[in-house]
Amino acid sequence: MTAYPALHMVIDGERVAGGGRRTHAVVNPATGETIGELPLAEPADLDRALETARKGFRIWRDSTPQQRAAVLQGAARLMLERQDDLARIATLEEGKTLPEARIEVMMNVGLFNFYAGEVFRLYGRTLVRPAGMRSTVTHEPVGPVAAFAPWNFPLGNPGRKLGAPIAAGCSVILKAAEETPASALGVLQCLLDAGLPKEVAQAVFGVPDEVSRHLLASPVIRKLSFTGSTVIGKHLSKLAADNCIRTTMELGGHGPVLVFGDADIDRALDTMVTSKYRNAGQVCVSPTRFIVEESVFDRFRDGFVERVKAIRVGNGLDEGAQMGPMANARRPEAMERLIGDATARGAKLLAGGERVGNAGFFYAPSVLSEIPLDAAVLNEEPFGPVALLNPFRGEEAMIEEANRLPYGLAAYAWTQDGKRQQRVAREIESGMVGINTTMIGGADAPFGGVKWSGHGAEDGPEGVMACLVTKAVHEG
Ligand code: NAD
Repeated sequence: MTAYPALHMVIDGERVAGGGRRTHAVVNPATGETIGELPLAEPADLDRALETARKGFRIWRDSTPQQRAAVLQGAARLMLERQDDLARIATLEEGKTLPEARIEVMMNVGLFNFYAGEVFRLYGRTLVRPAGMRSTVTHEPVGPVAAFAPWNFPLGNPGRKLGAPIAAGCSVILKAAEETPASALGVLQCLLDAGLPKEVAQAVFGVPDEVSRHLLASPVIRKLSFTGSTVIGKHLSKLAADNCIRTTMELGGHGPVLVFGDADIDRALDTMVTSKYRNAGQVCVSPTRFIVEESVFDRFRDGFVERVKAIRVGNGLDEGAQMGPMANARRPEAMERLIGDATARGAKLLAGGERVGNAGFFYAPSVLSEIPLDAAVLNEEPFGPVALLNPFRGEEAMIEEANRLPYGLAAYAWTQDGKRQQRVAREIESGMVGINTTMIGGADAPFGGVKWSGHGAEDGPEGVMACLVTKAVHEG
């Protein structure tokens, strides 16, 4: 069985730890016990990482597509070989169940293999010009990237943050979440072991605001890629603007789910309940606001609650656990505040609404219904295991409710009417729409939002393009 590994940063290929640096205690969310001490960067560490990233960019921008593909494919192979260890580490530090952690490994494997093909398709173009003249448009890597990954997908988020810049020919400094560092280090190690030059990808940890201010103030960094809350995303956008740094922002969501009277209700219930409580609801594309046509509301609500009450909550390492703890102490506190506010305003609590056990950060799968629209939980991202069920009359009112919030990441609709499927897909303000499905991602598809959910995309060809700039060369 894998022990939790010793923690360090990776700067210029060196494992950096100790030396009187401040530390952050990494906690197992299933037990509340400290499992590791993470060294935090001092300004000199960040300066060293920046200087290394500058060198790394000069090395990697000149790499051939074959070299990049070999590294990405090699790293994918190593992740497959190491999947048991990687998944266990992710569960230990984030809490999700082992099968969920394994899916993250496979997401990275798929993405790295996709990018390994994509590096051969970074085409430019030649423009039509009078004889003797030539104009070409080429794509060049944008430069060193600062990438900030959150804790909810401890393997998948770092995979996205590292894979795209490396495919594009950039260097990257990754600051993954201090809560889940070992998973991120495991992904980086696969790339380094697959032959990535040590200057090209590094990992630092620190006080998030110190690290982001330091890196974004440097002229070395040419792109910021951030996944996290809208409030921090706005703050980082302002810092990036001071240096005209290009950004990809994958921010919060408040996933609406439109359930129409003509839907296959049983299939919708089976799919949505599983999806809602995945990773204890701590998923940016989590289905959250269930906007249910009133003709099927009672049936949908009762079927939902029945399925929720059957969910087995437990330590993610235990076989049979279907939902693990929340990832950190802040999340159950947020659940208590949001559910308390909703019930005080008259919402009905149909399941959950309480912590589970007295160790770790477990919170029961919860369901609220008939929630007033001004309840906090219907306006801010709950990021937890709570479903919000409200009845609505007619398509127009349902779409209006879906678009009411400033978020626009993922939206879902359940209807068997083909014309309505098209209307809903067109009208919903969202980066991703799932019609009769929750499978809204894939290595070859762009993943990202609109409005307050951010801009730019990860995955797909778009993920690599986001790390490239165009250059037009005109020859007379
Ligand atoms: P938070 O907003 O403090 O942190 C979110 C992430 O951003 C963390 O990984 C954190 O390390 C990082 N971060 C925070 N301040 C930063 C800074 N100044 N510079 C760089 N990185 C910074 O909140 P939290 O308590 O960790 O999570 C709460 C909320 O964050 C959730 O309710 C959810 O809305 C959002 N969140 C979203 C995602 C996502 O996938 N979009 C992931 C995790 C958290």
